Amino acid sequence: MLPYGRQSISEEDIEAVVKVLRGDWLTTGPVVDQFEQKISKISGNNFVVSTTSGTAALHTAYGALGIGPGDEVITTPMTFVATASCAAMHGAKIRFADVCPETGLIDPASVEALTNEQTKVIAAVDYAGQPADYPEMNRIARAVGAVTLADAAHSIGGFLNGHPVGDLADVTVYSFFPTKNLTTGEGGAVVAKDQKIIQRAREFHNIGLVRDADRFMMEDEGPWHQEVHEFGLNYRLTDIGCALGISQLQKLAAFKQQRAQIVARYNQAFFDLEGIATPVQVEESNPMWHLYTLRVLGGRRRTVFEKLRANGVGVQVNYLPVYWHPVFASMGYERGLCPNAEKYYSEEISLPLFADMSDSQVDFVIEQVFAAVS
Ligand SMILES: *Cc1c(COP(=O)(O)O)cnc(C)c1O
Repeated sequence: MLPYGRQSISEEDIEAVVKVLRGDWLTTGPVVDQFEQKISKISGNNFVVSTTSGTAALHTAYGALGIGPGDEVITTPMTFVATASCAAMHGAKIRFADVCPETGLIDPASVEALTNEQTKVIAAVDYAGQPADYPEMNRIARAVGAVTLADAAHSIGGFLNGHPVGDLADVTVYSFFPTKNLTTGEGGAVVAKDQKIIQRAREFHNIGLVRDADRFMMEDEGPWHQEVHEFGLNYRLTDIGCALGISQLQKLAAFKQQRAQIVARYNQAFFDLEGIATPVQVEESNPMWHLYTLRVLGGRRRTVFEKLRANGVGVQVNYLPVYWHPVFASMGYERGLCPNAEKYYSEEISLPLFADMSDSQVDFVIEQVFAAVS
């Protein structure tokens, strides 16, 4: 079965990892710093802390922002559950804004209607790789004293209005899971414009340990002294993963180009295919395409999905509206809350898209889509 996404690993990647394995540091050594610096460089030179996953990055980011009971986080239901669940785990109330029907991206008007004095974070998602409308998100957030968060698990390497992902929101979160645009095995990162947020994030991802003598609250016990002011977890990414990440970053531009070429071929093939809608690109955006999101019209999504799977095309659906998950449904979120997101979900299929896809694999998918739709 041709997967909907997969990693691209070269001999150089393997050598970079093996080199770390032969060295002194497996976990938090010099390579973590080097990787964080390189992530900073492609993210508008903002501050960075790496984490063990995108989910850990979200949990860390919300923790660093001090989100808790009484606070509200506005986000989209058209995302992986962690965008919302990691804020809920800190005790925040989640408000789901609807999406734009054509792109699946969070709709600024819907966000604005949900803001109030409790709004602490507006968490947008760069669905499929297209940056959300951050100029609008930032304007809406400023008006109520909230901050913006970009869940950029899909979009590292993309741009909006010439500005890179990582520099569009106050805080940005990446995932380096193998199906994403670059990988460290498991991994993620938090990026922020404000150094204080990253300092808090760094402590949160390291059990809350404070080692800076200037900030000690108790008497220094000796050279071994370190102390905890707030609870944290161990979300530290390893040198092993970061070596892979650095090697992968060198190929990010090539990955982007390969993904764009496949997207262009799909668009051309499906442009006037009846019963299908191809992805709509946002103006002013230069996306790192992570997903190719076909919409199957006329209530035929499941039939087409099953035919494709049966014929060796490993399609996926991204995503079940987050508040349909029983954990949110049991909190009182009802179906119908975000009609555009629910309609989008009911039509969506993600076709295979990854940097190493060969021309003949793309041809095969196109052929199978024509067969499944007809
Ligand atoms: C993958 C993903 C995450 C979580 O990242 P992991 O590294 O898998 O924990 C969060 N948000 C979105 C939109 C994702 O696609």
